[in-house]
Amino acid sequence: MTRNAPDNLCPIAVNLSEMLTGDWRAMRPVVDRDRCVKCATCWLYCPVQCITEKPTWFDVNLATCKGCGICATECPHRAITMVEETED
Ligand code: SF4
Ligand code: SF4
Repeated sequence: MTRNAPDNLCPIAVNLSEMLTGDWRAMRPVVDRDRCVKCATCWLYCPVQCITEKPTWFDVNLATCKGCGICATECPHRAITMVEETED
């Protein structure tokens, strides 16, 4: 099933570089591509619309993800795990 998941519903998160969160986020979501069934629940709940549709899974734009963990909580298939950010 193909869904049209626009990734530009929140212009603040998507377009303004000063809103990038990668420098200060403490946790990041990791999507298990094998568990993801493309139900789009994470896309619906993400408060900054940084979930994007890939061919066989939904992924996260880590440039604007703020690490709130709502997607991981709401994913009905437990395909998203929050992991701690580590310094490079
Ligand atoms: S909510 Fe979970 S299963 Fe549904 S699209 Fe997002 S990651 Fe995939
Ligand atoms: S952690 Fe929060 S901001 Fe990041 S993708 Fe999930 S719901 Fe969106």
